[in-house]
Amino acid sequence: MSTIVRFAPSPTGDIHIGNARTALINALFALKTGGQFILRFDDTDTARSTPQFAKNIARDLAWLGIAPHRVEYQSRRTGRYAAARDKLIATGRLYACYETADELTRKRSRARALGRPPIYDRAGLNLSATERETLEKQGRKPHWRFALAGRSIEFVDLVRGPQTVNTATQSDPVLIREDGSYLYTLPSVVDDIEMGVTHVIRGEDHVTNTGAQIELIEALGASAPQFAHHNLLVDESGKALSKRAGSLSLNTLNISGYEPLAVAAVATLTGSSVPPEPVHSLGELSNLFELSRLSRAPARFSLSDLDALNAKMVRQYSYEQVKDRLAAMGIANGAQIWAAMHENISRLNDIAQWAALVNGPVSPVIGDEDREFITIARNALPPEPWDEDTWANWTSKLKTLTGRKGRGLFMPLRLALTGRADGPELKTLLPLVGRKGSLDRLS
Ligand code: GLU
Repeated sequence: MSTIVRFAPSPTGDIHIGNARTALINALFALKTGGQFILRFDDTDTARSTPQFAKNIARDLAWLGIAPHRVEYQSRRTGRYAAARDKLIATGRLYACYETADELTRKRSRARALGRPPIYDRAGLNLSATERETLEKQGRKPHWRFALAGRSIEFVDLVRGPQTVNTATQSDPVLIREDGSYLYTLPSVVDDIEMGVTHVIRGEDHVTNTGAQIELIEALGASAPQFAHHNLLVDESGKALSKRAGSLSLNTLNISGYEPLAVAAVATLTGSSVPPEPVHSLGELSNLFELSRLSRAPARFSLSDLDALNAKMVRQYSYEQVKDRLAAMGIANGAQIWAAMHENISRLNDIAQWAALVNGPVSPVIGDEDREFITIARNALPPEPWDEDTWANWTSKLKTLTGRKGRGLFMPLRLALTGRADGPELKTLLPLVGRKGSLDRLS
């Protein structure tokens, strides 16, 4: 059997690394099983969904290297949901309810006061045709609930193992709002059936929905897919990543210069028994990732893990691998720069600031107290050719000439040559700046 999975975001905001975890876990599963990945926009909430957010999500997935086999928009499939609605009404599984939000709240508080669970009392199911007519004459519009069978539903979760959800402890879920629009459940189930989804892989916040969904799938005459509910990424303090975790949005990570594969490895392997490690493709990552290796505890995401992995990955690149990207940053002498400085970067775009130390423009910093020392240093610059030993030879000569040593010797030279107090080793930098460049900067 070939597998079909889906990632079903609602396009009501940009996606962050926690959402990427779900998308990637699905994509890795499809890669590993030779299956298909559907990107399905849950955009039935027309008030909050926008085409722009859908576009952004597709862009962010593309950045991660995910190319969906199929893209669907639920807003274009309402005819399919209407057909399912009619079928459920005809079989008596969908019924009209007329309570207002206030009335429902009151019912729930009453139940609690009586020490009963706040489960919907099914008043709607027991209304006669005349009672319904009367309510509608008062101008009330129905919302629609799915009549749960109220039984123990068992399924084997590919992450969590055997699960039991008892739908007798749940309220009949509302599938259709008063204005006729669909809540998440019905469209999702109809699509999973009609798109032939074999594996529903999503966050564990959906485990409790699964019982009602299995009942609904069966009420529509289909059989349930396999389910896998993965642990969610949380921040370092253990809090859920909020929908608007701006600094961790994929777009921000992209603009900040992280490698998409570093993001993908950290997003998926965090909270599993395999620590994130450098990978060269999603295919390679799919071999490290296993649903069964996920922990049941929340997956703690830390930016420092991402920084560390990103640094490891970029430092491993050969010049060939980054050549075009360095050229796009306007670095003409990329090969030289890469050879000298790739050990000093954490993100690839760091190389631009180091390249600028060689290629300029540099504003040398020379304090008044160092002016004389810098003049001596300038006059003591050895003749070319220069190599990695030039720095040591030059500075040991300066030590003898001026009596300076340690920081008092090196820092004024670094500030004059690069304009900054930090940066790559001067023994590497000096031959790249060259004698002429050094003479200028020391003037
Ligand atoms: N739009 C839902 C979510 O993002 C999809 C849930 C599902 O995968 O079934 O939570």
